[in-house]
Amino acid sequence: MAILTLKPRRERSLLRHHPWIFSGAVAEVSGPATPGETVEVRTAEGRWVARAAFSPASQITGRVWTFLESEAVDPGLFDRRVQAAFLRRPSLLGAREGNAFRLVYSENDGLPGVVADRYGSFLVFQLLSAGAERWRETLLDALRKGWASTFPEDALEGIWERSDAEVRQKEGLAPRAGAAWGAEPPALVEVREGESRFLVDVRGGHKTGFYLDQRENRRAVARAARGRDVLNAFAYTGGFGISALQGGARRVTNLESSVEALALADRNRALNGHPAEAWEARPGDAFRVLRALQEEGRSFDLVILDPPKFADSRGQVEGASRGYKDINLQAFRLLRPGGLLFTFSCSGHMSPELFQKIVADAALDAGREGRILRRLEQGPDHPTALAFPEGSYLKGLVVGVE
Ligand code: SAH
Repeated sequence: MAILTLKPRRERSLLRHHPWIFSGAVAEVSGPATPGETVEVRTAEGRWVARAAFSPASQITGRVWTFLESEAVDPGLFDRRVQAAFLRRPSLLGAREGNAFRLVYSENDGLPGVVADRYGSFLVFQLLSAGAERWRETLLDALRKGWASTFPEDALEGIWERSDAEVRQKEGLAPRAGAAWGAEPPALVEVREGESRFLVDVRGGHKTGFYLDQRENRRAVARAARGRDVLNAFAYTGGFGISALQGGARRVTNLESSVEALALADRNRALNGHPAEAWEARPGDAFRVLRALQEEGRSFDLVILDPPKFADSRGQVEGASRGYKDINLQAFRLLRPGGLLFTFSCSGHMSPELFQKIVADAALDAGREGRILRRLEQGPDHPTALAFPEGSYLKGLVVGVE
């Protein structure tokens, strides 16, 4: 097996079980190692540290499969990792939660670059690293076995691949999407989440089709929504809007730049039996429409801001901050006295502290007083490995305004 030797003193984070080896920490790779191949990681002094997947194209040259010298990187490892990941979910989520959730969350489940989500009787997976790509067939096997033992009552109909995320480019991998096993999913897969039902476009939707990470926060919106006029900005397929109606909201205005997403949101409304009068679609750019709503004299009792990732890298945080500040400022201006703001950032590079400061600055500029009633985060099917703080990316604040 090829050996990846670290530069002196660059093993510290690995000894604390952080799974990434950055290119700058690598002294040399001996032997012919191809992308995705397993390499032995050693300190400059020659001490064994880990076995990792080699990715020469990426800034993250290695992603660790195991920190145990006695553990081989073979199909058995993938079976064990997938099995353990699957078993964590039902106990965390409870059967009443529904049938759509993340089953494998990459580094946080000891499987760097592997994502697998359940949508009803289908699995949708993504391979996002050279190492994950290398073990594709093994992983498919492991996923099927994991499903059979975790959900013995629900037959798996098919596995669909969505390895078409942009991050694959950084690993030197071409995009791939399509049926990987079994039946092809229908154009829209219907899933249950608590009392709600959603249609999910697993083929063309964002990520693997749905924002599973917001499940608990949809519940929080439902609990707070009774009798309120709701603005759901960055609505996608209406997740928060449906939850608000389920919780007794008076009316929901959905702001979203994608007309396809808005059309699916409206189908989700109908699927859940809510009247069209309780639903308004506002297609367009949030930065513009949030201002237009003010000019129209509109106001709301509950505003949700769930924008896309504004910062993709550390260098983008400053520009992203201006974007977050602006939409939060406009939201505060649209809130009635006693209103609630549910505001989110899914940029991992934006710290919770900075996000809170931006929201505070926005309230100040809008001349509003407020307080944080709750802090929100990604659900328990998106766990964070203790040694991998990068696993936490979603943060939200529920702000009550005077
Ligand atoms: N809240 C959603 C997920 C939102 S993802 C849910 O829980 O399901 C962010 C959404 O914002 C995407 O649907 C994207 O199409 C939309 N979007 C991106 N930029 C936008 C903009 N400038 N104005 C309005 N919508 C935008």
